[in-house]
Parts: sequence; C-alpha cells; structure tokens
Amino acid sequence: MSEAVEQTRYKLVLNLVLVGVFLASALSILRRYLIQPLQHIHRVLSSLDARGPLPDLSSAPMAEIHAVEEAIVRFHATLRENEDVRLKLERLATTDGLTGLPNRRHFLGQAAEEMARALRYGRPITVGIADLDHFKQVNDRFGHAVGDHVLQSFANLVAETLRQTDRVGRYGGEEFAFIFPETTPAEALRLTGRLRQRLADTPPRLPDGSALPVTVSFGLADATGSDLEGSLAQADSALYQAKGSGRDRCVLASPDTRSVPQP
Ligand code: GH3
Ligand code: MG
Ligand code: MG
Repeated sequence: MSEAVEQTRYKLVLNLVLVGVFLASALSILRRYLIQPLQHIHRVLSSLDARGPLPDLSSAPMAEIHAVEEAIVRFHATLRENEDVRLKLERLATTDGLTGLPNRRHFLGQAAEEMARALRYGRPITVGIADLDHFKQVNDRFGHAVGDHVLQSFANLVAETLRQTDRVGRYGGEEFAFIFPETTPAEALRLTGRLRQRLADTPPRLPDGSALPVTVSFGLADATGSDLEGSLAQADSALYQAKGSGRDRCVLASPDTRSVPQP
C-alpha cells in the first residue's frame, strides 16, 4: 500500500518536474523569439528619428516580427525622404536663389528676433542697408549675366566678412539689409567701411578675367531701443544721403531723426 503511494508520489513529482521544464523551455522560447524582438522594436520605434541613422534591426527569426522590422525600415526611409523635401522647401522659401543669402522675408524675421532680444536686454543694435552704385550701368554695359555675377560676388564677400552674429539678407534687386546685434553705430560704420574696402580690393571679375570695379553705398541707423521698421526707414534715408553726397560711402542716420517704438 505504502509502496503504491510512494510510486504515485514519485510519478507526481516527476510530472511536476516535467511540466516545470516544459514551462521554462516554453517561456525561454517565447522570450527569445517574441518578447525580446518586440521589446527591441519598441525601443527602435520610441527613438525613431527622421534625421538619425537607419535603426539597427537585426533580422528576427519569426517571419511576422521580421515583416514588422522591414516595415520599420521602409517607414524610416520614407520619414527621411519627407524630411529632405521639407528641408529643401524650407531652404527655397527662406533663401534668395541668386545669392544664397536669406531673402527679404526671412531676413526681416531674423531681424525682428534680434531687435526683440536687444530691447529685452537693453543691448546696442545697429541696422544697415547697402545698395550697389550705378548698378544699372553694369547691366547695360556688360549684360544681365554679368550683373548677376556681381551680385553673387558681393554676397560672397559680405558672407565672408561679417561676424557670425551679424545678419544679412537680399532686401531687393541690388539692395542688401544688415542687422548688427551687440554693435554700436560706430562699430557698424567700421564694419561696413571694411566691406567697402574689400569690394575695392577684390572687385568682381568679368568673364575675360579682368576686374570690374564696383562701389557700394551704405545707410546705417542706431536701432537701440527703436523699432525695426522705423530703424530701417532711417537707414534708408541715410542711404539716400550717401547716394546724394557722391556714393561709395557709409552714412549714419543722425540721432535726432531716430524713431522710438510705439508703446
Ligand atoms: P544708384 O547708384 O542710384 O543705386 O543707381 P543704380 O543704377 O544702382 O540704381 P537703379 O535703381 O537705377 O538700378 C538698379 C538696377 O538693378 C536695375 C535693375 O535692372 C538691376 N537689378 C535688380 N535686380 C537684379 C538682378 O537680380 N540681376 C541683375 N543683373 N540686375 C538686377
Ligand atoms: Mg537700388
Ligand atoms: Mg543701386
């Protein structure tokens, strides 16, 4: 009797051990083939970034999981394409096609931000407008393509000469607008004077390689504590004075005509 009980107990324990081994193996297989790949997919999806590299998806053994991984790779490629198109459109919308400088609208946005920052912290800021002198004659004498080349050369020279914090944009045909944060009018006069000098020292080249002397006039205005629109109007008046007094010079708007922002 007790032997029969002993045997039954033995079988029971054996069965329990077998069930335990079976469950442990099933769990291990489930973990390796389903849970871990799904956890990995979760990590990849949470950190998926259109600008980041292709996620590392070591191909999972289960066909269904593998299909999900492949879908993620395709999804990531689509995200990247969309991001490239978005960046391209953004560049087109903000950049002047001829010179590569910010266009007028974009420049005005940047300038407004700089003005707001300067106003908030009570810092000096100066605005300017440059206009190439007798530019119509360049077009008339050498053709529109040479005129375009002169605009590009001037834009390159400006981009090379300005400090990182200064902003420039193509404001109109042969007009360029500037904003010099953290800069007094006296410093801005020195900077624009240096630009004029560099244009004289390194004039644009004609297709035959000969130099085409071009000059530029600048109008500047102290924009510290002022509004952008009014300051640009002041710079424009100063530019008008520069043109009227012989061109090839930088003129600063006189302080008494500066505008003050409306409350
Ligand atoms: P000022 O010294 O008084 O500024 O004289 P200006 O001849 O430079 O000024 P005006 O306004 O009479 O002429 C500007 C010229 O700029 C006329 C226009 O054809 C030319 N222009 C404007 N945009 C472009 C452009 O993108 N490419 C070329 N090649 N010419 C342009
Ligand atoms: Mg002009
Ligand atoms: Mg001009």
